[in-house]
Amino acid sequence: MSGGGAPASAGGGRHAGGAPAGGDAAGVGGGTPLALRRRIVAGNWKMHFVTADAAAFCRELRRGLAEPRQEPAGPARPEVVLFPSFPLLPGVARELAGSDVAMGAQDVHPAERGAHTGDVAAPQLVDAGCRWVLCGHSERRRDHSESDELIARKVAAAARHGLAPLLCVGETREQREAGETLAVLERQVRGGLSSRPAGPAGVVVAYEPVWAIGTGLTASPETAQEAHQFLRGVVSEAAGQGAGAVTLLYGGSVTPANAAGLIAQPDVDGFLVGGASLDPRQFLAIIACSG
Ligand code: PEP
Repeated sequence: MSGGGAPASAGGGRHAGGAPAGGDAAGVGGGTPLALRRRIVAGNWKMHFVTADAAAFCRELRRGLAEPRQEPAGPARPEVVLFPSFPLLPGVARELAGSDVAMGAQDVHPAERGAHTGDVAAPQLVDAGCRWVLCGHSERRRDHSESDELIARKVAAAARHGLAPLLCVGETREQREAGETLAVLERQVRGGLSSRPAGPAGVVVAYEPVWAIGTGLTASPETAQEAHQFLRGVVSEAAGQGAGAVTLLYGGSVTPANAAGLIAQPDVDGFLVGGASLDPRQFLAIIACSG
C-alpha cells in the first residue's frame, strides 16, 4: 500500500529560485550543499475527520495539485505530507495511491511490538502506508507528559523502520517571556535526536512555538527566522549533518495570509499546518506559495 512518495534523500530542490542568505551561512557542519534542503508542506489533522471527510479532502487536494502551475518555470512544488489520525490511515493511503502526496502518523511507540494497549508500532505504520511520523508534538508533550528521552526513543524507532521522523520542538509563552526560548529549543533538539541512528537521510524538524499553535498568534517572520537560524546550527550539530541537509518547518497558526512572509525567510523550508490543513483550499494555497 502506498501513501505516496517521500524520498528519504533530498527532494524538493530547495530554493531553485536562488540560494538563501541563511542556512549554510550559519556555517555549522558545512559540507552539504544547500540544494539538499527540502521544501515540505505537511498537514497535521490532529483528532479531526472521519473516513468520508478524509476521502473528500484527499480528492480535492489531488484535483488542486493536478491543476497546471501558474509559474511553470518557478521552483518545484514542495513535498506534501498528510498526518491523519490512526483509524484514517488505510483510507487515506487508498486515496493517495499513485500520487506523490505522502502520509504519516501522529505518533509511534518506541517498541516494535508487545503489550502496549492502545499504542501503535513503527512496523504497523509502515504496513499501513506511512512514510513519516510526528515525534514530540507539543500536544503529546502536554497531554501525555512525553519527555525528551521518550521522544528520542520514538525518533529512533521510526528511523530504524524507515519512517522519516518529524521532530517537533517549541517553547511555551512563559518560557519565551522568561528568555528561555533558545535553551528550550536546544534541549528539545539534543534530547530528541540523542538516539537517532546515523544515516544519510536529512533531518526534518518543525519549530512550533506552543503559544502559536491553534491560537491565531503566528510568529512574525523575524521571530521565526531567529529561531530557525539558531535551530539549523543546533540540529546540524546534534544530527552530525551539514547545515544544508537540515530541513526546518515552521508551525503555528499558518494560513494562506501569513505563509508567504514566513517562507520568504532564509531558514524557513516549509510548514507544519494544523487548522488550515483541514480545508483543502487553504492547504492548497499554502502549498502554492511554498514552492
Ligand atoms: C500544529 O498543531 O502542528 C499546528 C501547527 O497547528 P495550527 O496550525 O492549528 O496552529
